[in-house]
Amino acid sequence: MKNAEIVIIGGGVIGASVAYHLTKRGAKKVFILERESGQGKGSTGKATGGVRAQFETDINIKMSLYSIDFFENWDFDCEYEPRGYLFFATDERQFDYLKRNVRFQKSLGVKDVEIVDTKTIAEICPILNVSDIVGGTFGGRDGFINPLAVMNGFTTKALERGAKIEFETQAFSIETVGGKVVAIETNKGRIECGKVVLATGAWARELAKTAEIDLPVAPQKRQIVWAQSPSKLPENLPMVIDIGSGFHFRPARDFIDKSANDDNTEVLFAYPDPNEQSSLDTNFDESFIEKVYEKAKHRSPFLFETRVIKEKCRAGLYENTPDHHAIIGDCEIENLYFANGFSGHGVMHSPATGRALSEIILDGKASFLDVSCLRLERFAKGELLHETAFI
Ligand SMILES: Cc1cc2nc3c(=O)[nH]c(=O)nc-3n(C[C@H](O)[C@H](O)[C@H](O)COP(=O)(O)OP(=O)(O)OC[C@H]3O[C@@H](n4cnc5c(N)ncnc54)[C@H](O)[C@@H]3O)c2cc1C
Repeated sequence: MKNAEIVIIGGGVIGASVAYHLTKRGAKKVFILERESGQGKGSTGKATGGVRAQFETDINIKMSLYSIDFFENWDFDCEYEPRGYLFFATDERQFDYLKRNVRFQKSLGVKDVEIVDTKTIAEICPILNVSDIVGGTFGGRDGFINPLAVMNGFTTKALERGAKIEFETQAFSIETVGGKVVAIETNKGRIECGKVVLATGAWARELAKTAEIDLPVAPQKRQIVWAQSPSKLPENLPMVIDIGSGFHFRPARDFIDKSANDDNTEVLFAYPDPNEQSSLDTNFDESFIEKVYEKAKHRSPFLFETRVIKEKCRAGLYENTPDHHAIIGDCEIENLYFANGFSGHGVMHSPATGRALSEIILDGKASFLDVSCLRLERFAKGELLHETAFI
């Protein structure tokens, strides 16, 4: 490949969604460059596939609403399961925060979200120790998707409409002349291009630097413990989250060996380890198992009695921004666009992101949803967003 109209660097769920939406609008000569031999080897392949509209900010809620509709009504299966997200609080301050969020979510059109008392929490999740829980919220349309199905669905449609994907093609630098993108240097040579989309997930910052853009995306290891219980999990177990500590658990979904899901005994649990420094390390650290079980001990004797399946435990990378919101849009370099920094929500927000960025590229702005608050310039202007309901 020597030239392209639009080059998307990174073939994860975000690059795939951008390609899907661009080609849906008729864009020609759209190329995805992926340095690996296949897709899904970055964060998308590590994601557990949670999707929720229970956020704090206007933009995150609206991105989720759009994306959940998309998952529900998609023309192919992304394995959307509206199992719900149950957030619980262990003090009144946390509970007030959750209640405020629910009021706001409802005002923006989130359906099936409600404030729940301790008795209802125990009914929704009978394996929970509710002795110190003061209340919570439950969003019935929140739930699970299969990240690989989403990514593959986007890719297949984009390729059918003429996009191309080049594997084992690593972008080294973005070449600019007079403040404008002209080409990309790769291990397979120089590619002249009209527009470039950076969709390289946790690895975005270094590449942006080659165009002299400081993209505040910090990689951070996130680990998941996968375990099997001696008895079946409760029917319809949702995602369950302690809003105070971020400790959470949910029924596990094996996307590769789907027969493993049949007996409803596998569960995964995790929490955001505050001691985890920014790094690109994706090795699973076994000491995390003990830390998670320590948290499970109090919250759920059921979880404490499970047996770890070590080969299924995993570590991947979150791509965090200082305000835990994505960076979507253009920048001071003409024809350079970003879709980065999803801070743990990239799969669930991939439909809205792809549509927004395709509209920005083709029309100059996103009209289905105003995503201008997610532009990179918010950091320089000090217009950071505020969301604390991240896990
Ligand atoms: C443990 C874990 C659980 C998660 N759970 C959820 C969840 O429940 N719900 C949710 O919505 N999100 C979740 N996430 C976050 C989600 O995985 C990410 O936000 C999302 O996958 C980001 O997609 P992406 O396409 O931007 O990045 P990636 O999937 O990482 O894709 C980036 C691609 O760019 C390629 N690349 C990088 N540099 C270059 C280069 N120089 N040249 C060419 N190619 C390059 C990489 O190989 C990679 O394939 C989770 C993440 C982790 C780690």
